[in-house]
Amino acid sequence: MHEMSIAVGLMDQVLEIAKVNGLKEIDEIEVETGFLRQVIPEVMQEAFLAVRRETIAQNATLKIVEIAPLSECNICKKQFEPQLNDFLCPECQKADVKVLKGDEIILKSIQGKESK
Ligand SMILES: [Zn+2]
Repeated sequence: MHEMSIAVGLMDQVLEIAKVNGLKEIDEIEVETGFLRQVIPEVMQEAFLAVRRETIAQNATLKIVEIAPLSECNICKKQFEPQLNDFLCPECQKADVKVLKGDEIILKSIQGKESK
């Protein structure tokens, strides 16, 4: 279950940003997960429940948005949506491709209350 390590890293990031912005309570966290990272939303939610305990995000909700992957062929420059086990360029059938999107976890936004 790699969701747990992702959740831990995410919470570190969230708490750091909250500190910098003077938030005393976090209401909502929005995160984008690339398809290629294979994050299972239900498992991620569970991991989140575990890591938010006893933090200022203990009542926060987690919104997960999955992003479709996008690859580009290094040879013919065609852009296409790769499958999990198939990274061949559909145009020239070469495996010399780079991933443009879908291989990352991005913390999109945090909503919370500022301390007065
Ligand atoms: Zn190609």
